[in-house]
Amino acid sequence: MARRGGRHFLQIPGPTNVPDRILRAIDNPTIDHRGPDFAALAQGVLQDVRTIFKTEQPVVIYTASGTGAWEAALVNALSPGDRVLMYETGQFSTLWRNLAERIGLKPQFIAGDWRHGADAAAIQAALAKDSSHEIKAVCVVHNDTSTGITSNVPAVREAIDAAGHPALLMVDVISSLGSIDYRHDEWGVDVTVGGSQKGLMLPPGLSFNAVSVKARVAAKTSRSMRSYWDWEEMIQANANGVFPYTPGTNLLFGLREAIDMLHEEGLDNVFARHDRHAEATRRAVNAWGLEVLCQNEAEYSSALTAVLMPEGNDADNFRKTVLENFDMSLGNGLGKVAGKVFRIGHLGDFNDLMLSGTLCGVEMGLGLAGVPHSTGGVAAAMDYLMAGRQSA
Ligand SMILES: *Cc1c(COP(=O)(O)O)cnc(C)c1O
Repeated sequence: MARRGGRHFLQIPGPTNVPDRILRAIDNPTIDHRGPDFAALAQGVLQDVRTIFKTEQPVVIYTASGTGAWEAALVNALSPGDRVLMYETGQFSTLWRNLAERIGLKPQFIAGDWRHGADAAAIQAALAKDSSHEIKAVCVVHNDTSTGITSNVPAVREAIDAAGHPALLMVDVISSLGSIDYRHDEWGVDVTVGGSQKGLMLPPGLSFNAVSVKARVAAKTSRSMRSYWDWEEMIQANANGVFPYTPGTNLLFGLREAIDMLHEEGLDNVFARHDRHAEATRRAVNAWGLEVLCQNEAEYSSALTAVLMPEGNDADNFRKTVLENFDMSLGNGLGKVAGKVFRIGHLGDFNDLMLSGTLCGVEMGLGLAGVPHSTGGVAAAMDYLMAGRQSA
């Protein structure tokens, strides 16, 4: 490919732009993972990563993509043949369901329309019918990255409690951790599944399970075959700052930096920044006369916005136009909405001018691709961004 000036705009909703500070941290010589320097690093990171999940429970760190941590959650706490209640919020909930089925669980999938989050009342109704408590876990994706929908996790917790059901609650926060407020302990979640390459601003390669006492107790009697994913072996080794196998040493240098950066900014400020950029993006979408895929305002994602293409226009053709002309990658439509939506990632290490540039590329791309729209989206976003700033 011919050289292009300037930085590529990586506006897919993960992997996200990795800040220079994290790149510099990763760019250090790999150290002995059984030596004293590594033990100090690991103990610090394992302790401090809990503040990002808002938990005092152990967080297991895997050298794996998010999918690995999905599997880890299921094989540690559940046994073959166990029923799990899952909710269809988009492609990521569908993939987790498929994984559950492949490893011998019996998922019960509550159908959704890909435009609304997990319906707590439907979950409560399904649990109420299960009087013999055959359902062993309820699994929800906090922020479904395929649809730009954020589900209300505390409402799901309340639904389980209201049904008086003992099922574990498992939540995928792969694209909300570090972007949207999340509280593992306060919300009574048993297993939280995270990943490195989205709100945490790291490259792909690490993933996480935050694990409650109840989940660890369930793991003691689980009959699923597992070795690499086993929580207990990991948690015991981690107590001494070691891993049972070679960890992703350089990614852990990066994780140290990412945790520090999130706290330097302050988690609440990080979440407010994401909310603001999401609102500015939706104002642009409205001004273009296009439609946001998510139909419930209370469930709009602050990490990304999925935009519906006008009927008869191919989203991937539009994305190709943007990539070729402006060197920007936008997220494609996944699964049922392939070709019908494009996704604007506005999560991770991101600021007002990066967002403005992103929206500018979208607006010019709509024009070049001949997609029917009104101009003025960028201006609407700018007005909103400006209103939130101080005048001289
Ligand atoms: C990205 C993502 C995944 C998949 O993670 P991989 O790292 O690609 O395995 C799962 N769930 C959600 C919500 C995601 O955004």
